[in-house]
Amino acid sequence: MTATLTHSVGIPESEYLALRDRIFEAIWSELDPLERRIEDEEQVPHDIVMPILARIGALGLLVPREYGGSGLSIAQYLPIIAEFAKVQGGLRVIVHVHNSFAHALSEIGNEQQKAAVLPGAATGRNSVAFALTEPGFGTGADLGSTAVRDGDDYVITGEKWLITNSDIASHFIVFAKTTDREVSAFLVPRDTEGLSIAALPETMGCKGTEHGRVTLDAVRVPAAALVGAEGQGNEHLERALEISRVFIAASSLGTSERALELSIAHAKSRVTFGKPIGTRQAVQRYLAEMATDVYALRGILADAARKWDAGERIPAEASMCKLFGLEAVGRVTDRALLVHGGIGYTRAHPIERLYRDARLNWLEEGTPTIQYLVAAGRLLDGYAFSDAFEISHRP
Ligand SMILES: Cc1cc2nc3c(=O)[nH]c(=O)nc-3n(C[C@H](O)[C@H](O)[C@H](O)COP(=O)(O)OP(=O)(O)OC[C@H]3O[C@@H](n4cnc5c(N)ncnc54)[C@H](O)[C@@H]3O)c2cc1C
Repeated sequence: MTATLTHSVGIPESEYLALRDRIFEAIWSELDPLERRIEDEEQVPHDIVMPILARIGALGLLVPREYGGSGLSIAQYLPIIAEFAKVQGGLRVIVHVHNSFAHALSEIGNEQQKAAVLPGAATGRNSVAFALTEPGFGTGADLGSTAVRDGDDYVITGEKWLITNSDIASHFIVFAKTTDREVSAFLVPRDTEGLSIAALPETMGCKGTEHGRVTLDAVRVPAAALVGAEGQGNEHLERALEISRVFIAASSLGTSERALELSIAHAKSRVTFGKPIGTRQAVQRYLAEMATDVYALRGILADAARKWDAGERIPAEASMCKLFGLEAVGRVTDRALLVHGGIGYTRAHPIERLYRDARLNWLEEGTPTIQYLVAAGRLLDGYAFSDAFEISHRP
C-alpha cells in the first residue's frame, strides 16, 4: 500500500484555463519565434525570456499559493510542461528545472527555507537548481561530496557537474555525505563563499541553457541549511525525483505530439509519384505507430497524475512513465524523420531540433537502467498494479 500525503488539489477550472491559455498564447507568439536565434547563438536570451515567463506566471506553477505561486495540481501542470516541450528545448528545460525544484523545496524544505525562497521563485527573483551528479562518482547516492559538522555549521566539499540552470540559480539543493553511509541535502545560496560555477560544453539538444560544474570548496553553511534531518538525503532524493520523472515523461509527450502533427501535415503535402506520401500504406504505418505511442503516453501520465493528486506516492509508476516516455519519444522522432525524408535532417525543419531535444529525456532524472532498478525494486517488494483491474469493473 502506498503512503498518503497532502498534495495540491489544484485551482478552480476557470482560473486554470485562463492561466493555461495565457501561457500557450505566449509560448507560440513570443517564445517560439526565438528558436532560430537560440539555436544559432546556443544561448537563451535570459533578459528577454525570464520577464516573459514571469509575466505569464510560468515560474510559479507548482509553488503553493501561500507562497505566491499558482499551486497547480500535477494534472493541471502536465499539459503546460508538455506544451513547452513543443518549442525550442532550452526553454522547456529552464521552465522544467525551475518549477520542478521549487516544487521539491515546497515538499521537503522547512518553513524557514520555504518562506525565504519560494515567494521569489514564483516571480523569478529566485531559482532553485538540483546539485546531485558528480564527475568522479555514480548516480544517486554514490557521492564523493562530504558535509562535515563543525559546531553550528556544516562544511561542504565536493564537485558537481551537469547542473542545469547553474547560470541563473539563486540556490542549489546540494547532496553530500554526512557519514560514510548517510546522505544529507542542503540548501546553499549561490553567493556562499567557496561555491564557484564554471560552464561546461554546449549540449547536443535543448540548446542555450547552462549545465555547469559547481565546485564546493569548504563551503560553510549553518545547520539551518539542512533540508529535513541529517541523513534523510536519500529519501529527499527519491521524493524530488519521483514526480520530476513524470514531468520528463510529459515533456516526451509534448515533443512527440509536435513531431506527429508535423508528420501528418508533411504526409499530406509531400507528393511523390503523383500522390501525397500519406496515401502510402508504409507511411500510414509510421503515423499510426506514432499516434499509438502518443495515446499510450497520455494514458499513463493521466493515471500517474491522478494517483499523485490523490495523495499517493508513485515511485514505480513515475519510473515507468519516464521509461516509456523516452522510448516513445525516441520512436516517434525516429519515424518523424523518416516521414520527412531528407529535408527533416536539415536545420530548415523543426524535426531536426525535436529529434535532438528529445534525446535529453534519456538522461534527465536518471537513465533507463535507473528506472528499471526503481520499478523492478517495487515489483519485487510486492507492489501490485491492482488499479488496472479495478478500472475495468467500475460502472
Ligand atoms: C543536459 C543535462 C542536464 C542535467 N541536469 C542535471 C541537474 O540539474 N542536476 C543533476 O544533479 N544532474 C543533472 N544531469 C545529470 C544526469 O542526471 C546524469 O547525466 C544521468 O543521471 C546519468 O548519470 P551519469 O552522467 O553520471 O552517467 P553514468 O552514471 O556514468 O552512467 C553511464 C551509463 O552507465 C549506466 N550505469 C551507471 N551506473 C549504473 C548502475 N549502478 N547500474 C546499472 N547501470 C549503471 C547508466 O545507466 C548509463 O547508461 C544532467 C545531464 C544532462 C546531460
